[in-house]
Amino acid sequence: MKKFSKILLVCTLFLSLSLLSYSNESKNLSSKEALQKLVEGNERFIKEDYSNQHIDKDYRKGLTKGQNPFAIVVTCSDSRVAPELLFDQGLGDIFIIRTAGEVVDKLELGSIEYAVEHLGVNLVVVLGHENCGAVGAVIKGGDIPKNISYIADEIKPAVDKAKTQEGDLEENAIKNNVDLIVDKIKKNSEIIEEAKDCKVIGGVYSITTGKVEFFNK
Ligand SMILES: [Zn+2]
Repeated sequence: MKKFSKILLVCTLFLSLSLLSYSNESKNLSSKEALQKLVEGNERFIKEDYSNQHIDKDYRKGLTKGQNPFAIVVTCSDSRVAPELLFDQGLGDIFIIRTAGEVVDKLELGSIEYAVEHLGVNLVVVLGHENCGAVGAVIKGGDIPKNISYIADEIKPAVDKAKTQEGDLEENAIKNNVDLIVDKIKKNSEIIEEAKDCKVIGGVYSITTGKVEFFNK
């Protein structure tokens, strides 16, 4: 019986150590490290040099222990903008919130805060994209159905500002929209403000080149 207890103790120790090594492996990245990882992933995507990391069945099974994403991406629902693909990441890597025109209200803010507070993510990227239909529809104007107009109302200040700027109206409106959403997240989240190293930055994805240009880093 004593021998059995010893074996049980050794087994428990090994199990504890393996769980400890799992949590060490999944140490949270700083905002700087997380951004670097996204930049490098986007470079691989452009070169079509995909890593195929974190998509095999063993990795997937490991994720039953929990998730440890290194970045939050708030982006458009547009089917051409798929964060895991354009940053060459896999399962469990990016916590994603998607709405048309990447607009953010309390529901989306709550999701962002969950990932910051409970998962310890230190980087929030608001990602707009070339040829965004939501921004384009606001520029075009006209009658917009009730529920869609709720989205359009959020985007309108970005379009109004673009009308006073030089250069391409749609390009400027897309960037302004990202800037306004970055500001909105920062101004309305005490959790992000109080987090030690949590940054909110913007970016725009070019469908033409595949590149994500980051700004307000
Ligand atoms: Zn869009």
